[in-house]
Amino acid sequence: MDVYGLIGNPVEHSLSPPMHEAAYDALGIDARYVTFEPAESAGVVAVESAATLGVRGLNVTIPFKQNVLDAVDPDGLAARIGAVNTIDCTTSPPTGYNTDAAGVQRSFSHHGVALEGTVVVIGAGGAGRAAAFALADEGMTVRIANRTVERATALAAGVTDAEAVSGTAEGHGLDALPDLLAEADVLVNATSVGMEADQSPAPAEALHGDLAVLDAVYAPLETRLLRDAAAAGATTIDGAWMLLFQGVEAFERWTGREAPVEAMNEALRGEL
Ligand code: NAP
Repeated sequence: MDVYGLIGNPVEHSLSPPMHEAAYDALGIDARYVTFEPAESAGVVAVESAATLGVRGLNVTIPFKQNVLDAVDPDGLAARIGAVNTIDCTTSPPTGYNTDAAGVQRSFSHHGVALEGTVVVIGAGGAGRAAAFALADEGMTVRIANRTVERATALAAGVTDAEAVSGTAEGHGLDALPDLLAEADVLVNATSVGMEADQSPAPAEALHGDLAVLDAVYAPLETRLLRDAAAAGATTIDGAWMLLFQGVEAFERWTGREAPVEAMNEALRGEL
């Protein structure tokens, strides 16, 4: 039996075990997906130990996404983003990937949204970094708006300076959103706004019917941003799609097989 897993702290509410085990069941793979909760200081030791014990692959969540970089050889995208959420433990050293980026890209492509033109990314934390680099890699013009404007500017400079990236980026404060959204084709909410309270990070009157909107927030599934966007006639994509496709990408990296997307989606949405 193969073992895959997740390291994070806390991990008790993770939706990854049912999603991945649905994939093993659908394809008849003899494997289990286990959650591990090491101490905050033990991310590197956890990765090294997992590899030693024969765990084939790990997902990585808060607070370990940055510090496991010391235990892996990151691919180019993960190195640019500066965070790893998926590890192939069968290589030596283990290989680090950032499949949150693929989660963003594949959420749009699954919904038939062309990744061209201009994207506004609200947020410059972990999800914002993954979205900004992923969409710049697609050649999009990336406009990052963040509450702390210095983080947006620093992220934009990092994207623009990255040699392998074909798109460009600029950083702004949240007050620029009405002007930025007027010219945008795509919007990603990569802040936590909408999770705790029924609030939106973007002014409703700035949303329009030519936008495709992905909200990284998946609890609740129907956020105020997505309700406002639907009312404006925009295409809306909830955060469970991003969660699904980061898992789909991880499964495919680990097994080399095409993921059973429908089975994984059904299992995931059954938990939400
Ligand atoms: P993070 O690194 O802590 O970053 C949080 C971001 O939200 C920062 O840009 C922060 O701005 C902004 N923010 C927080 N509170 C705000 C407020 N009241 N008003 C405006 N901006 C605010 O978190 P993260 O890991 O990027 O996660 C962000 C969200 O994405 C969470 O809801 C998380 O669950 C979700 N997420 C979803 C997926 C998925 O697969 N669907 C994957 C990853 C993350 P400052 O820089 O000014 O603090």
